[in-house]
Amino acid sequence: MRRIYDITLTVTTEMPVWPGDPTVLMERFSRIEAGGDANISRISMGVHTGTHLDAPYHFFQGGRGVDELPLEVLIGPATVVRIPDSVDLITEDVLDAASIPAGVTRLLLRTRNSRYWARKTPVFHKDFTAISPDGAEMLVEMGIHLVGVDYLSVAPYRDPLPTHRILLGAGVIALEGLDLSKTPPGEYQLVALPVKLGGCDGAPMRAVLIAD
Ligand SMILES: [Zn+2]
Repeated sequence: MRRIYDITLTVTTEMPVWPGDPTVLMERFSRIEAGGDANISRISMGVHTGTHLDAPYHFFQGGRGVDELPLEVLIGPATVVRIPDSVDLITEDVLDAASIPAGVTRLLLRTRNSRYWARKTPVFHKDFTAISPDGAEMLVEMGIHLVGVDYLSVAPYRDPLPTHRILLGAGVIALEGLDLSKTPPGEYQLVALPVKLGGCDGAPMRAVLIAD
């Protein structure tokens, strides 16, 4: 039987968010227990919360929004590669050593970050492993169309712009906040569907990997 890995973080009011971004608010707008006909909830959160996607408009005025991204890239074969726990910065050299199979267009990088999700801590970790600018350039050269990481940004905390600009500027879709803690390295079918927010810079999504 095929196995489906849910690589999506559960959205809760306790989940860590990027420092300065809106926190998650969830409230019951209508309650059965208070005499309402139905339970109806209202949420308020930044679009870069939890498992989400970055659209080019995030860093480029005039760039494409979430609703304009091709489903052909968001659904299809994907490779999960394990990056050693000793790696803080995913550079060109680290990617070289990761023996990424030729022809891969969707690449998910499982790093030491996934342990943060397994522990379910509300703390934001600034020292997460991320992709360096030269690593991002190599991904573009390799023909990667979609890259996924297991913390809240593809780029290092202290220098977020270069890596994002290289990837999004080349049309690479960035998936962020993936929980890869239970996903072994290998080949899968990825289904990553962001909420279809019109003209938006990012969107929360449900992402799964299907193993045959
Ligand atoms: Zn983002």
